[in-house]
Amino acid sequence: MKAMGIDIGGTNTAVSICSSAGKTLGRFDFSTPRSKYPEKTISEILRIIDGKYPLDEIGAAGFAVPGMLDPENGFVFSAPNLGWKNFPLKKVLMKYHRFKKLVFENDASCAALGVYSAYRGKKPESLAVLTLGTGIGGGFISGGRIFSRRDISIFEAGHIKISPEGLPCGCGARGCLEAYCGAAYMNNWAGAMFPKALQSSVLSSGEIYEKANGGALWAKKIWKQYGIYLGMAVSDIVNLLVPAQIVFTGGLAGAYSEFKGGLRISLEKHILPSYRGRSLISVHAGACSVGADGAAAMTLL
Ligand SMILES: [Zn+2]
Repeated sequence: MKAMGIDIGGTNTAVSICSSAGKTLGRFDFSTPRSKYPEKTISEILRIIDGKYPLDEIGAAGFAVPGMLDPENGFVFSAPNLGWKNFPLKKVLMKYHRFKKLVFENDASCAALGVYSAYRGKKPESLAVLTLGTGIGGGFISGGRIFSRRDISIFEAGHIKISPEGLPCGCGARGCLEAYCGAAYMNNWAGAMFPKALQSSVLSSGEIYEKANGGALWAKKIWKQYGIYLGMAVSDIVNLLVPAQIVFTGGLAGAYSEFKGGLRISLEKHILPSYRGRSLISVHAGACSVGADGAAAMTLL
């Protein structure tokens, strides 16, 4: 039987189909249907998928959810970008299709497994993945498995504190990594570094990257500072877990060439001397399918 991974994002839903041996057979994506009723969103997602690939041919399905959940029971405590709160996802899914096997995880943990599965040849013994997008997600793989709890998703790297009483974060606290390095939050500190003529503007992270790439010094300084902020959280991860490999994925990982200088400065300052150089850092390209690939791989574990 085939396996399917479904990564439900705030904007797009990505689907990956693989054989029982883990070989990718196909991928597609579509705009996530919007409804204030989560059940309507789910029934619509299943209808769209079934129209592209018959669900009856699928033995196991893995769902990547952008939020906090109970993986064992497929219960979503909150997924802010989807507007879900206390939503019994597994129960609702079973109402619309009799899946033989269903598994659930946080989307960043699925992305981490997707990155891990994409390694050809020798795979890292442990791997931390940070998804740098609108917000910041994290996942950790150890010995080929998602580092996880059955009753609640973990490794919320976006909420590692990098500044006491710092900028406000969507989680309600202050000073989280996400409040500095999430694309939606960058302007909150970077705006002050814009040239005077731009001070009242809101530039996207992509636009700031273009400016830096074009040689604008102010934009280069912003990315250096971005790297310094990111490096503080990465150092904490290294000091706790010393992952063999740390991988950045997501839209902002494309700006790595601009922020790696600041990142390096921060890592040298904050990583314990004995741990320096033990965690390799890289960027994973082809990021949009990685969560769905990981969700499909998760059904085979
Ligand atoms: Zn937070």
